[in-house]
Amino acid sequence: MSDQVVVVGGGIVGLSCALHARRAGHDVTVVDVGDVRQRASFGNAGVIATCEYLPIATPALLKAIPQMLFASDSPLKLRWSYLPALAPWLIRFLAASAPGKVDRAAEALKSLLSLSVSEHRRLARDADAGNLLRDVGWIKAYESEKAYSDLEAERRYLAERGVAMSALSADELNDLLPGLRNIFRKGTLYSDCIQVTDPGAYVARTQDACANAGVRFVSEKAKGFELTDGKVTGVRTADRHVAGTKFVIAAGAWSKVLAMQLGERVYLDTERGYHAMLKTGNRTLLRAPLLWHEKSVVLSQQLQGLRITSSVEFAGLDAPPRYETLDRTVAAIQQIAPELQGPIESRWLGFRPSTPDSLPVIGRAGKHPNCFMAFGHGHLGLTLGPVTGHLIAQAIAGQPTTVDLQPFSPSRFAHS
Ligand SMILES: Cc1cc2nc3c(=O)[nH]c(=O)nc-3n(C[C@H](O)[C@H](O)[C@H](O)COP(=O)(O)OP(=O)(O)OC[C@H]3O[C@@H](n4cnc5c(N)ncnc54)[C@H](O)[C@@H]3O)c2cc1C
Repeated sequence: MSDQVVVVGGGIVGLSCALHARRAGHDVTVVDVGDVRQRASFGNAGVIATCEYLPIATPALLKAIPQMLFASDSPLKLRWSYLPALAPWLIRFLAASAPGKVDRAAEALKSLLSLSVSEHRRLARDADAGNLLRDVGWIKAYESEKAYSDLEAERRYLAERGVAMSALSADELNDLLPGLRNIFRKGTLYSDCIQVTDPGAYVARTQDACANAGVRFVSEKAKGFELTDGKVTGVRTADRHVAGTKFVIAAGAWSKVLAMQLGERVYLDTERGYHAMLKTGNRTLLRAPLLWHEKSVVLSQQLQGLRITSSVEFAGLDAPPRYETLDRTVAAIQQIAPELQGPIESRWLGFRPSTPDSLPVIGRAGKHPNCFMAFGHGHLGLTLGPVTGHLIAQAIAGQPTTVDLQPFSPSRFAHS
């Protein structure tokens, strides 16, 4: 039976839900505020990071956090005035780092990540965006041998779970990073990862594919839901009521308020992140996206130039951007990239929608069975958006889902 599906949020996750639901024969409307730069999907590093099975909260990270919070050049920033608001999330983040929980989260992430490349290939075909995908892998590089060997146990953990990786020598890194001075001693190539060379264009083409398939768009902010006899029957904006029979909340970092209106208590906050774009002319500085481990910065050669993404900042959705750390990071990169001396072309602040256990929220709402949640993909939203879209469309149709959705259930927070 076909439904009237209303999706709130038009980032990679919401659009993927809309496209899959439309393919399944439903009448679909996307309600999105319509500011493309507000989407985290717009300015990310473009890494389809299929190797990132490990959740963010691990025992090793917990040990490093105190020092990271106080170092002036740290990539982790907390605006202390935001601490009271963050505390409930933070407590659950600390609890999520217990070893048994890390293993369970890793298994759950693996179940999604193993589908992500095939879902992207399908999306790229449908959205005529195949030319924006590159099979180049993802490099993690280390200036010090010690930093590399300190992560041996982590690499073994991933290798035992099937992540493809190969060690890189200093010479091999030099070949893969032709525009950078040879400061890296060791590295790892995660060869199954792929790259999106312009995430903004990729999402725009996904939106075009939705529109071509007959998805309607309402460019307004969703303020809440209409209920009739206790059942959700519409989404309310300033000017209208968008009627539907099934609803999906996919509003990225802004989803918590909407979920709360449906009685769902979810722990969602934002790990704010920044990017800077610099022109590279016709020169290829990197043959694959690179994580410079010591600086916790990602460099990604995009169609428009080099994208440098940096920082995790806890300061909520409303605090103005602070670009100082980003600018310092760019200066450090310019020291190892002789040809990258031009000014920063543009800076951007984006909002990763993050849960304390690093697992997205995917599934049916507990109190309103005609509503579904699809948010909280944190550092992996571009990677996982198309997978989530497919799973949500299966859940809407009442079909068995390809992946067990229990670990991602919205109700998991009720007992935490
Ligand atoms: C610096 C940085 C680098 C990153 N790098 C990577 C990477 O390399 N690989 C990767 O996989 N992920 C990466 N990510 C994470 C990824 O970008 C996000 O997880 C992902 O984009 C989230 O997608 P989304 O669709 O859930 O949310 P969004 O893209 O934020 O979309 C949510 C949409 O909902 C709209 N909205 C919100 N509230 C309402 C409302 N009330 N009514 C109507 N519309 C509403 C918003 O305007 C927005 O358009 C990165 C993120 C950052 C910040």
